Amino acid sequence: MIPITRPWMDEREEEAARRVIRSGWITQGPEVTRFEAAFSATVQSEHACAVSSCTAALHLALLAVGVREGDHVLTVSHSFIATANAIRYCGAIPVFVDIERSTYNIDPTKLEDSITPRTRAILCVHQMGMPCDMGAIGEVAARRGLAVIEDAACAVGSAILRGDEWQPVGRPHGDIACFSFHPRKVITTGEGGMLTTARDEYYKAFRRWRQHSMSVPDTVRHGSPEVVFEAYTERGFNYRMTDLSAAVGCVQLERLAEIVSKRRVLAERYRQLLSDAEELELPQEPAWARTNWQSYCARLPARADQKWVMQHLLDHGIATRRGIMCSHLEPAWSGREWIAGAGGLSESEQAQRQCVLLPLYPGLTESEQEQVALHLKEAVAAG
Ligand SMILES: *Cc1c(COP(=O)(O)O)cnc(C)c1O
Repeated sequence: MIPITRPWMDEREEEAARRVIRSGWITQGPEVTRFEAAFSATVQSEHACAVSSCTAALHLALLAVGVREGDHVLTVSHSFIATANAIRYCGAIPVFVDIERSTYNIDPTKLEDSITPRTRAILCVHQMGMPCDMGAIGEVAARRGLAVIEDAACAVGSAILRGDEWQPVGRPHGDIACFSFHPRKVITTGEGGMLTTARDEYYKAFRRWRQHSMSVPDTVRHGSPEVVFEAYTERGFNYRMTDLSAAVGCVQLERLAEIVSKRRVLAERYRQLLSDAEELELPQEPAWARTNWQSYCARLPARADQKWVMQHLLDHGIATRRGIMCSHLEPAWSGREWIAGAGGLSESEQAQRQCVLLPLYPGLTESEQEQVALHLKEAVAAG
């Protein structure tokens, strides 16, 4: 069986987890601090704040930029449902902007006409690791006074060309970037998330809110020679990452460059193996983007039956996933308040219907990729 993904972990992660268990301090503590420092060095951000998931990170980011009850947030429906749900957590209303056919990312030319008097922020998604056009998005945001949050759940290790410099996703290119360490992503801590920003006040708010807004952290009270009573200064959350997760994350981060370069080799090999399948549309990087290929997405011809093609592959021992979901088509969002952006959502809906994600992970062999390509081409020809 060829799975869709497989986390890359060995004795080094095992040893890191063992070290934490033996230390007697399991939740947010010194390992989280170490992971944050390593992460901000990797993505060249001023600050990094670890949290329990990317969903939690998105929630805190929206609160930090001032998204409140009844506000509108420009985003995509074509994303994992957590993107839209984070907006709902704030009582705000998503304006779902359509995607570009070629990058599967928010179409910057549709932003301006989707803005309403209640729009406060843009929540863009670097879908499947492919960076958004942050230059174009930033221009609209600056002109219209909107905050920009990047859902970079899938995009650790991706980069954007600004001027003549390749800058890591997460520097950040908007006001705040949010990452995920779920096992489906490029590096993993089991569950986990990270916020990066250059703004001191956002960073301070994240650190308070993730830990119930307590005035003196437990780590400080624990080490104090005097009795200290903490206060709870405002509404907070339990969005802490554990030290167990963070210790594993430090090792994973050391592997990031190697993981991304392996994924790029694998993606290039798919491109070659599938280049003679004229009916398949293969993903391409814009000249200014370098993706980590968190997912490799092939678009089937309109006549093909997506489910049948996926079943054919599964019957040959190959796991695939359908293209990225559209949140507005799910029961969780039917009858809820959302707004379609300018021009509707036809590209988003087509992408969900026509795309198939192929297995891609370090350790996927050349012959396994050949099997995937063979059976995919077979299925497209037949179905
Ligand atoms: C995975 C994912 C999330 C959610 O990440 P969690 O860490 O599982 O909360 C959010 N947005 C996108 C685009 C994702 O792919």
